[in-house]
Amino acid sequence: MKISVAEQAGFCFGVKRALKLIDEFQRRGKQIQTFGPLIHNIPVLNELQARGIATVSSLRAMDAHKTLCIRTHGVPRDIERRLRRRGVSTLDATCPLVKKGQRIVEQLGRGGGRVLIVGDRDHPEIVAARSYARHVKIINSLDEARALPRSREMSVVAQTTLNTDFFKEVAAVLMEKTERLHVFNTICQATQDRQEAVRKLAPKVDAVIVVGSRISSNTKKLLQIAREKNRNVLQIETCDDLRGKRIQARLKGFRSVGLSAGASTSPRELENVKRFLQKL
Ligand code: SF4
Repeated sequence: MKISVAEQAGFCFGVKRALKLIDEFQRRGKQIQTFGPLIHNIPVLNELQARGIATVSSLRAMDAHKTLCIRTHGVPRDIERRLRRRGVSTLDATCPLVKKGQRIVEQLGRGGGRVLIVGDRDHPEIVAARSYARHVKIINSLDEARALPRSREMSVVAQTTLNTDFFKEVAAVLMEKTERLHVFNTICQATQDRQEAVRKLAPKVDAVIVVGSRISSNTKKLLQIAREKNRNVLQIETCDDLRGKRIQARLKGFRSVGLSAGASTSPRELENVKRFLQKL
């Protein structure tokens, strides 16, 4: 079986930065907990847990003796303010590109207009971003974009992990709704590169395996793109998901397999999957 790995796959800059910050902090003998999952990858979160780095989901659950690490997706403004007021020791691992989106929402909000954000309204990045302006509308489908009333001016930003083609389609719908559309493409470069790489790879192979967690937004988008280009697409979290007899029999029927991985999938996991497939 020929195995090809997408040109861009696995850990992105924001994830590497967050893990490095935590490593350095722990190496100095300091105790840390994360506010919400640091990143959306279960195996990596399990590793952090094994190193004594717990995830807390509320300020009440926090251990007051430990530093609180802010997740890569950021936290809403009121949480930041509460942490400051209480004098909680924090380590901010919010990805700078997520922060950039927050700043754009804030600036647009200061102008007084309504800010449109394209993305998943329940995703922590969007929950945080929307807190930066008073009048924010989240849209996550073309129908939601079509249902917006006409307006003289519109400003739109994107979730960092959005499907680039989908954002273009939404912008095209909005163009028909306003005389002046301000588009801020806040989809991060790592997301665009990984999407482009799987778009290129998927039509050239018999099957595609996307390595990443089911809770990972950018992994879901890679899957979506791979499925547009290839009929045989699988998502796995770790190599263990390939150990079943049925799945192995299916894989043996392919002459070539392409591998892609979400931005929070470790290079080690991707390598494990590659080695496993080579031995099949
Ligand atoms: S996917 Fe992009 S925005 Fe998200 S953590 Fe990685 S670099 Fe930052």
